[in-house]
Amino acid sequence: MHHQFIEAALRSPFYQKKLNGISLDTWADIPFTEKHELRDADSFSLLGTAVADIASYHETSGTTGKPTSSWYSFRDVENESKLVSESHLALRRGDLLLNRLTFTVAVASFIGLWATQYTKCGHISLAKSDVSTPVRVLDVIKRTQPTVLMEIPFQLEILAGVKQRLGFQTPTSLRALLAAGELVSPSRRKWLQSLWKVPVYNLFGSTETGGLVTSCHQGHFHLDNPTVLFEVVDDDGQPLGFEQRGQLVLSTLRQGMPLLRFATHDIVELKPAEICTCGNSHPVLIHYGRQEDVTRIGGHSWTLYDLQEIVYNLPRIPMAWKFVLNKESVAFLYQPFVECESQSEQDVLSAELSAKLQVPVAVSCTEIVPQASLLQQSNTTKFKYVSEVTDEEFADKAI
Ligand SMILES: [Zn+2]
Repeated sequence: MHHQFIEAALRSPFYQKKLNGISLDTWADIPFTEKHELRDADSFSLLGTAVADIASYHETSGTTGKPTSSWYSFRDVENESKLVSESHLALRRGDLLLNRLTFTVAVASFIGLWATQYTKCGHISLAKSDVSTPVRVLDVIKRTQPTVLMEIPFQLEILAGVKQRLGFQTPTSLRALLAAGELVSPSRRKWLQSLWKVPVYNLFGSTETGGLVTSCHQGHFHLDNPTVLFEVVDDDGQPLGFEQRGQLVLSTLRQGMPLLRFATHDIVELKPAEICTCGNSHPVLIHYGRQEDVTRIGGHSWTLYDLQEIVYNLPRIPMAWKFVLNKESVAFLYQPFVECESQSEQDVLSAELSAKLQVPVAVSCTEIVPQASLLQQSNTTKFKYVSEVTDEEFADKAI
């Protein structure tokens, strides 16, 4: 039995109410917590400690409806910091982490900041915005020589594209990428490493659950986080062993907001530690993506992991890509690093994708990210209280 997880959960009014009258003797009988329950709950009822212990409040984006509250105590912040700094990334004094994640209400960017403060190493916040365009980011990289770049994988690919166009040399100071916020399949990880010539570490987690695990040297999520209990269950909620795909269910000891058997709707699989030779003896979790991202193509179900494995094994991997589906028709839109391939090369791409997905795939080279925005300088607009204008402009404005 996992008493400590039950005890942690029962500190929150939400779980006191949810578990009232339910036998907690058998772990498997404890009901799952669904996302909508958290969304519908009063934010304070989710608290597992006094407000005075809270260091940081966050919310999910709310793109799928109402946002979910997420509280982090000072102790939680320390645990989140350790998750990054004590991983194989081994953040240390003297490091300078350039953080490209947006500092809004989601938690991921803050985990990067907290980890640097915990380690007492430097931090640069350069979240994607009109000011910090890719060109500006490369300028700052040149000026500051960071050692770690924290970024969403999609943006790491775009930034690599701009880097290539400008002939920008990555400084030798850069020793690692810390990817967060998107799935990274093994082939995508290899691709990112080849683009940046440094190891890639991946932070897996969400605003609701907090950071769960940082990947090892070899890109594996070893389940060694002592504050999280990972379960994999089938469609009927029954536990699954190694080598079986199912849903990830999490329990956490987070003081600010404990979770008990939280149904993540992420598709995962457990593998024995032996599949990795990094020396970590904890089992490995393979993340295939969210259930809602599973796509039906040609009568088969494809996870985001499956699609990434196809795209990142193409003879020429694009800078940006997406699949567009309409009933039975499938199109693959892509934006190359340099310029569109010839028609014959596009035909090769189409044949390759059609063979893998077992349906005809139309291929189109297009602008997924506007070209103009790629090389745009910083665009700072500040309100002016006094401005000098021409006679005509003055005549227009002054009534
Ligand atoms: Zn490993």
